[in-house]
Amino acid sequence: MSALQQCYVIKDAPGKGMGMFATRDIKRGECILSEKPLVFASRNLIKTQRAIDAMTELDKKAFFALHNVHSDVPTAIGIVRTNALPLGADAVDCAVYKVMSRVNHTCAPNVHHTWNPKTKKEYLHAIEDIATGSEILTSYLEPFLVREDRMKFLRKNFKFECRCSLCAAPSPEYDSTVNRIKIYSDLIMTCASTNPKKSIQFVREVLVLLDKIGGEGKTPFYYDGYQISAMYGDYTLAQEWANLLLESYIMDEGEEGEKYERYLKYSKNPRSHERAGCAPRQILS
Ligand SMILES: [Zn+2]
Repeated sequence: MSALQQCYVIKDAPGKGMGMFATRDIKRGECILSEKPLVFASRNLIKTQRAIDAMTELDKKAFFALHNVHSDVPTAIGIVRTNALPLGADAVDCAVYKVMSRVNHTCAPNVHHTWNPKTKKEYLHAIEDIATGSEILTSYLEPFLVREDRMKFLRKNFKFECRCSLCAAPSPEYDSTVNRIKIYSDLIMTCASTNPKKSIQFVREVLVLLDKIGGEGKTPFYYDGYQISAMYGDYTLAQEWANLLLESYIMDEGEEGEKYERYLKYSKNPRSHERAGCAPRQILS
């Protein structure tokens, strides 16, 4: 990325070490950074240590300059545990980055990071407009956790007390919305085989609830809506969901995202889902 295009700076973040800050206004959906890892890591500590030993001296310098909150393990492993990002959702393997690993945490992030196995790069996209000077913040958490669970996870894995806008004070309303989202999420796929209309209703309920807590995280639910409609051959509805899915995905992960081509195909032809028409036809709208 050239200096002209760069829209961030890494500098001191009071009370948090270093952090990433916007040097100009950044629009929702913009790709802030794409970066190749300094080093890949896995649960196999010997393999990870070997990968670290094999880094160039310059990369080692950048790696050992990263923050380490785990003093109970060798420094290199502590740095990996503090800074590594998973290679995709649910992945066991992870990677450490010179710049991306400097992005601090909040429970209400303004960016989304994603791994693309084809380009072997991690991407950072703005999920809301970010004003010049604002800190660029990601979430180290899985989605939809209540305050107590978020705090427990961050204390255990990153040794800090989160003081973000969501954690500053207990928010029973937020926690109850999150719990309802989790319940409805489970019901979407449970009902898909027996009562798809109900399933679609749960998708719509979740989207309303997501709007109550900031509106992020809709893409997987648009996918559910699309998949269920396509399975039951309601292609008019499937087309609507596929359009929403593509639009939301581009905002989250951009056209360089791993699933972009697939979601573009669904939007062009809602019948192209691998399970399209596999269930008895039903109009679900
Ligand atoms: Zn927080």
